[in-house]
Amino acid sequence: MTKNFIWQIIGAFILALIVGIVFGEKATYVEPLGELFLRLIKFIIVPLILTTIIVGMSSTNDLKKLGRLGGKTISYYLITSFIAISIGILSGIVFSPGSGTDIKTPETNIESTDSDGILNTILNIIPTNPLESLADGAILQIIFFAIFIGLGISLVGEKAIPVRNFFNGFAEIMYRITSIVMTLVPIGIFGLLAPVVGNYGLSVLLPLIKLIVAMLIASLIHIFIIYSIAVKALGKMNPLHFFKGIFPAASVAFSTCSSSGTLPITMKNTEENLGVSKETCSFVLPLGATINMDGTAIYQGVAVMFIAQYFNTELSLAQLLTVALIATLASIGTAGVPGAGMVMLTMVLTAVHLPLEGIALIAGIDRILDMIRTTINIVGDASASVVIEESERKWS
Ligand code: ASP
Repeated sequence: MTKNFIWQIIGAFILALIVGIVFGEKATYVEPLGELFLRLIKFIIVPLILTTIIVGMSSTNDLKKLGRLGGKTISYYLITSFIAISIGILSGIVFSPGSGTDIKTPETNIESTDSDGILNTILNIIPTNPLESLADGAILQIIFFAIFIGLGISLVGEKAIPVRNFFNGFAEIMYRITSIVMTLVPIGIFGLLAPVVGNYGLSVLLPLIKLIVAMLIASLIHIFIIYSIAVKALGKMNPLHFFKGIFPAASVAFSTCSSSGTLPITMKNTEENLGVSKETCSFVLPLGATINMDGTAIYQGVAVMFIAQYFNTELSLAQLLTVALIATLASIGTAGVPGAGMVMLTMVLTAVHLPLEGIALIAGIDRILDMIRTTINIVGDASASVVIEESERKWS
């Protein structure tokens, strides 16, 4: 990644701000540029995940190693998500964004999602028809399928070598395509952000500014304190190097609001800029893009406090603990697509008997909160890849 590229991204941010402010709602004219970029990165995802995981897994027939990798990755994800939600709740208590807020409850018709969703998510990891999973882009199912094909290749040995060579070549092709699409990142950022800036006037943002600030501060603490410590102490990497390396993916996450959509760029950045091996990246990152959502967890904490304060409801310590537990589960069940975190918030609100109408208060600015949380989501995944890579190095 050249310095030049980082400057192009920063330039795109500035240009989007200017165009959005100057042209207001007319800035939506540049939306097709954003759509073009979004479609290009989405078209890479399925073949990229499939081929890289198969290549990664076919180099090991060591089930123990796979179990160890999975155990460490999932533990890291759970612990950081729990810390994230705690920081979110604390920030909600300290900044009290919902007290004295002057907004009316809009009419709504919101239905709750329940925790059945989580059990189903787990069972659903096993595809009954892998080709259908590929066609639907069901990432967890594709991961499952690819892990087994990869392991199968190693176990079969010589007879499976042509298949392995095929996927090796295919993966290289997907990397090359990702590189080409990456050169369009600045254009995509501009096309996605200018309309958002244009559509959100100050009148939309101001009444909820305390909520945005509470979310932003909690997120900055999580990024710059928790991830810095993790990357430095466990990943043995200079945090500045880490943040610089993941910057392009973070800015794509910020503008697309989709961690799944950002996945090809996250993989490329962690490998090329942070030096994480293909094997670790291809396992840790697709999994993280689907189940690890620290930003979403922070959001759930801040949002629940906001809604409780707005409706003058005190939450007991036991209820706060419930929020922390359910929100950890909810963030796992959240899909890496725009707006998914807001839908999952219904599950947390139901658990502590808060009115679902509260969501309508936030809905108007959810896009802004989504930009912040998706950025944290993918930086969290990247931090995991650095930490897991270092700990695997110790084993080998
Ligand atoms: N948009 C988020 C993501 O893709 C999920 C969410 O809405 O919280 O990571």
